[in-house]
Amino acid sequence: MTEELRKKAAEMLLNGATLLSEPCPYCKGVRVMKEGHALCTNCGRVPEERKISTDVIQEKTETPLKKTLQKKLDVLSKELEQEIDHEKQQSILKSINLVLEMIEKIK
Ligand SMILES: [Zn+2]
Repeated sequence: MTEELRKKAAEMLLNGATLLSEPCPYCKGVRVMKEGHALCTNCGRVPEERKISTDVIQEKTETPLKKTLQKKLDVLSKELEQEIDHEKQQSILKSINLVLEMIEKIK
């Protein structure tokens, strides 16, 4: 046990860490555990934690909002096609512009 590790382990124990009954998987040394982190007092290794995957959420490339905006865009372009009133065309174009901006933002 190095001096540094001894100090660290002592500090952890003082701060409410507990001694683990399970030995270190690498060197069978004594480990202290605090807030889910187990530190080996012999080799100083910290076993890898199991990470909670957030990839599942990020895998969805198309959000419902994006779908809604694309639908809206379809409707607006059809409206624009049929509209003969110049002022109304302008307002439809403004809406299209807004929808396109929104789509760009959530990309
Ligand atoms: Zn160890």
